[in-house]
Amino acid sequence: MNQIGQWNLSGIGCSLMILLAIMTLSTVGLGWVVNGVVLLLVFLLAAPVIAVYGLRWWVQRNVVEDQCPMCGHRFAGLNPVKFNCPSCGEALEVRNGRFVRPTPPGTIDVEAVEVQQIED
Ligand SMILES: [Zn+2]
Repeated sequence: MNQIGQWNLSGIGCSLMILLAIMTLSTVGLGWVVNGVVLLLVFLLAAPVIAVYGLRWWVQRNVVEDQCPMCGHRFAGLNPVKFNCPSCGEALEVRNGRFVRPTPPGTIDVEAVEVQQIED
């Protein structure tokens, strides 16, 4: 009990000192310093909150979780970019919150490795 009372008293003393320092600074004419420090503190406290909410908003807008239309594998994809299914490797993109193939069904993507002209 005694320790808690002492701790509380020292806390009040600390805040009194800060208040006294703020009052002294503002009477001397350094109110702008106090304002700057207060603004900085408010910014430092608000920045992580804004960052967390901004990130959540961005994730809700851009991360889509759906099933692969080819193999049914469920995973999350990013909205603006094209990606491949981690299970079957099918190229996919997000359209209206769903995974769709950018190529029409029945299309087989092939990469030309070497193209030779046939001479006759
Ligand atoms: Zn797949």
